[in-house]
Amino acid sequence: MFLSLTTTHCPATDLGYLLLKHPDKVHEKQLAFGTAHLFYPEAGEGRCTAALVVDIDPVGLVRGRKGRDRLFDHYVSDRPYVASSFLSVAIARLLGAAMSGRSKGRQELADTPIPLEAVIAPLPCRGGPEILERLFAPLGYDVEAGPHPLDPDRPDWGPSAYVTARISGQVRLAELLTHLFVLIPVLDNQKHYWVGPDEVDKLLAKGTGWLETHPQQTMIAKRYLKHRSGLARATLNALAEQVEPAEADMLEAQDEAEATLEKPIRLHETRLDTVTRVLLEAGAKTVADLGCGEGKLLRRLLKEKQFTRILGIEVSAASLERASRRLKLDHMPLRQRERIDLVQGALTYRDVRLEGLDAAAAVEVIEHLEPDRLPAFEQAIFAAARPKTVIVTTPNREFNATFEDFEPGKLRHPDHRFEWTRAEFEAWAKDVAKRRGYAVRIDSIGEAHEDYGPPTQMGVFRR
Ligand code: SAH
Repeated sequence: MFLSLTTTHCPATDLGYLLLKHPDKVHEKQLAFGTAHLFYPEAGEGRCTAALVVDIDPVGLVRGRKGRDRLFDHYVSDRPYVASSFLSVAIARLLGAAMSGRSKGRQELADTPIPLEAVIAPLPCRGGPEILERLFAPLGYDVEAGPHPLDPDRPDWGPSAYVTARISGQVRLAELLTHLFVLIPVLDNQKHYWVGPDEVDKLLAKGTGWLETHPQQTMIAKRYLKHRSGLARATLNALAEQVEPAEADMLEAQDEAEATLEKPIRLHETRLDTVTRVLLEAGAKTVADLGCGEGKLLRRLLKEKQFTRILGIEVSAASLERASRRLKLDHMPLRQRERIDLVQGALTYRDVRLEGLDAAAAVEVIEHLEPDRLPAFEQAIFAAARPKTVIVTTPNREFNATFEDFEPGKLRHPDHRFEWTRAEFEAWAKDVAKRRGYAVRIDSIGEAHEDYGPPTQMGVFRR
């Protein structure tokens, strides 16, 4: 299988800096299924091409496979020869830094859209060559699919499912590589490895900035996830929940409104300090911040040495990016950096990354979920992830009566789907605890009003 990348950006040999592969050398990488070679068939000022050729060992592929997982029933298969998930793996392994947008010595160029053309041959287009157009054209590429006849001697048999694809545009190299990485296996409609929940995260991470609005996102998710419908649905839900940048700004303004409302009582600070203290007292070492937003709790957790592993999980890419900036993850000393991870994910789906932790906290998150998604949250956190301690905080709706000029019935934040009274929260918490084998204690956060109770309520679940 063959992929070439060509630029006419001047000097074109800068492609070597972007790919972090010197044009004068032949580069080789041993992969589990064969060898990937990268070399430059042309490297001039005006035009430079890098070619990636993956040599797959067809016998090695069949050997050792058995049962239903077996990928190939015969030695004769197209797998060693056509572009597929093997090529995506080769891209990631050989050109991973370029795909993530990093360059040594030409960072500015890496950040700039330049004329690029990718040729992939032969590329299987399951469903017809028009699928190629439907996948790449919405991303702004010009697409050409050169057909390959099924049999050159029998034109009446028509074209095969394979094409020589030419995809060109003015793009950042990282974008082009990412699009190829995701969409080649989608075109092929197969994958050579088992697909589990972590593939959802890979797809969401690689899809940031383009998949949210791609008109073929359903087909992409289904095919990328090997038609495992639960995983595809999880992806589509997470994509739908992702806040558009404009909307994110709006939400930020709304967050400020909520903050203003609660400011006189410094409620958010109190809340975060309380949760940190409860986590410390629980003796937790490994903790997750569920719906970490911009990372205010994470910042506090980082300061406590007791926490050796801290995981922030959040559905909104925009919030995660802000968290990463605010925590200065990129400039953190390595020892500190190794303690923390930020990941994108939805709390309403089982997530293996949350399993095996000592504790998890969902601070002001459940009221952002649709009430009919609460059972899914319960399942994902209390049944699947099952940390020893779970902390859940949420507003006490009764307390709203104490805010000045606050319309009765209104909620504190426009994105809140509900706010519970003390009795409602307690009933939910006790039910969950009973169903899932936890003991729960309900606590107050903030100064309580004698009639309306505290501004925030907290459930501390232990098992
Ligand atoms: N815990 C943070 C943020 C609270 S705002 C703090 O106290 O500052 C609620 C956060 O939950 C938002 O960042 C929102 O994007 C996130 N969220 C909402 N629904 C989610 C879901 N299903 N999965 C993960 N995060 C979610």
